[in-house]
Amino acid sequence: MTDAVIRTRGLVKDYGRTRALAGLDLEVGAGEVFGFLGPNGAGKTTTIRVLMDLLRPTAGEVEVFGRAPAAGGPAQRARIGYLPGELALAPRATAREQLEHLAALRGGRGRDRIVGLAERLALDLDRPMRTLSKGNRQKVGVVQAFMHAPDLLVLDEPTSGLDPLLQREVLDLIREGAAAGATVFMSSHLLHEVESVAERVAIVREGRVVDVDSVRGLRERAGQRVSLTFAEAPAWSDFASIGEVDDLRIAGHTLTCLLHGSPDALLKAAAGHRVVGWTARDRDLEDLFMDVYRFGRDGVNGAKEARDGR
Ligand code: ATP
Repeated sequence: MTDAVIRTRGLVKDYGRTRALAGLDLEVGAGEVFGFLGPNGAGKTTTIRVLMDLLRPTAGEVEVFGRAPAAGGPAQRARIGYLPGELALAPRATAREQLEHLAALRGGRGRDRIVGLAERLALDLDRPMRTLSKGNRQKVGVVQAFMHAPDLLVLDEPTSGLDPLLQREVLDLIREGAAAGATVFMSSHLLHEVESVAERVAIVREGRVVDVDSVRGLRERAGQRVSLTFAEAPAWSDFASIGEVDDLRIAGHTLTCLLHGSPDALLKAAAGHRVVGWTARDRDLEDLFMDVYRFGRDGVNGAKEARDGR
């Protein structure tokens, strides 16, 4: 249908009476690193399991490499490196046996990378799976997802359970995979881990994508938090109608606001007063995300309206 590597349209998944996906639309292009963000229970794992043909959707369309996941078969699966949220592995086998078995299922592909990847992640390959901590099981999952240099990496919270050094190592692996031409689709509920590797992100909330943007576009939308201090208390009316200004507050001689776009009108209004201090800092993307999580695409205005009691 398109040359997108992942494409869903109107995807619905019900678990009994629970609607986990409520018309989810997604398009991930070849070679993109795409972050799939949302709070707990938003539908991230369900989406990923549908992409991997581990769940069948209730309604809607889904394609991976231009085919329904069920139609791809083993050849298609071999092109994908999948890291599930919880890896189900044979408890008695060692990590090495487990990974070599998986390599054998893929015709031996990736076998030669097991030791190198395990070393990077400080994974002891000779311990039985059942004795491994959650973090170490996650490392086995990472090795098996990356070892055959797949064309598509589908990663469900790839850094979950790992310490900060190992989180960084996994993000490096993602960057290296992308540099080698892989498409990456990774879920997370943490923006900061995604923003350093992803070009675009989608935010999912209650089973729908409520926002898709480039990381750069999000930064621009996040705006700046500005504070201006005047020699005398400024008049509310001088600033209230400036289009680029949101969340205007005046306390004593100090005005604070959120600025989106050009500072020109704000500075011209300020120039009518004696300014004794000012700061402007880029707003934390995390703040924008919190608003979008709670209020959807128009997060900033939604938050403003909620604060104003509208
Ligand atoms: P998290 O960040 O917590 O992993 P998520 O975004 O991956 O969350 P999902 O695990 O896809 O969210 O869950 C979406 C919704 O579907 C939630 O309301 C969840 O409770 C429900 N759900 C998930 N799996 C099942 C299941 N097997 N049976 C019934 N409901 C389920």
